[in-house]
Amino acid sequence: SRLVEVKNLTKTYHRSKVETPVLRNISCEIDKGEFVFIVGPSGSGKSTLLYLLGGLDQPTSGQILIENKPLSTLSATGLDSLRREDIGFIFQSFNLLKTLNCLDNVLAPFIPTGQAGTKRAEAIALLERVGLGERIHHRPNELSGGEQQRVAIARAILKKPKLILADEPTGELDTETGHEVFEILRELNKDLKTTIVTVTHDHRYIYEGDRILKMQDGKFLNSNSSQH
Ligand code: ADP
Ligand code: ADP
Repeated sequence: SRLVEVKNLTKTYHRSKVETPVLRNISCEIDKGEFVFIVGPSGSGKSTLLYLLGGLDQPTSGQILIENKPLSTLSATGLDSLRREDIGFIFQSFNLLKTLNCLDNVLAPFIPTGQAGTKRAEAIALLERVGLGERIHHRPNELSGGEQQRVAIARAILKKPKLILADEPTGELDTETGHEVFEILRELNKDLKTTIVTVTHDHRYIYEGDRILKMQDGKFLNSNSSQH
């Protein structure tokens, strides 16, 4: 069934009175359990689309629906809980907290809600699952880039989000490490049925049969933006 629906989405930035359209009337659908790659040249609007999908920014016009609910109808608190509970973000630069060890980084989203204690065993299991069982008490600066990204993946997954949004998750990694990170994401997608939308500009991570949304100048190039 459908998780995300993007309808006639437009985003325009205003720069010194010049209107710059970044997304131009784009539409697409993403089903639950899909693994979707967004590709395209730098500046084509990929990050902007991801930001809008995550409720981190608002469109100029058009709509995003998650489970048939338009994001535009959510209150500030509703958007906040969407970002906190339903969407896992994975960034190019990992965004881990330097002063916390791996385990506490994974638990960090649950500290404000007081659930870190009850989630602890699950967090350890997830760290083991991504191959970091021996590293749970290490801090980010004691880990390689690939290991740090795996911590970020475990952090995103612990929330059991409806959707994971990853913006160039391998951008700071060498190709081999990048492959390992995408393999983990593919496994989690398959085993946990987590819907994943990821931006990449490296075609080596994309396999035949993968669903790809190609962007150029704020539009989708391919017709399969609604095909599954
Ligand atoms: P991509 O992720 O494909 O590289 P982006 O979505 O980051 O593309 O950017 C698309 C275009 O929007 C670029 O021309 C960029 O300069 C512009 N842009 C992105 N964010 C902003 C912003 N906050 N304000 C103004 N322009 C922006
Ligand atoms: P990438 O798309 O490779 O992740 P960024 O999103 O950091 O890169 O930026 C893409 C482009 O958007 C860059 O040209 C950057 O200058 C521009 N950009 C990003 N954020 C803003 C902003 N807040 N205001 C103006 N331009 C921005």
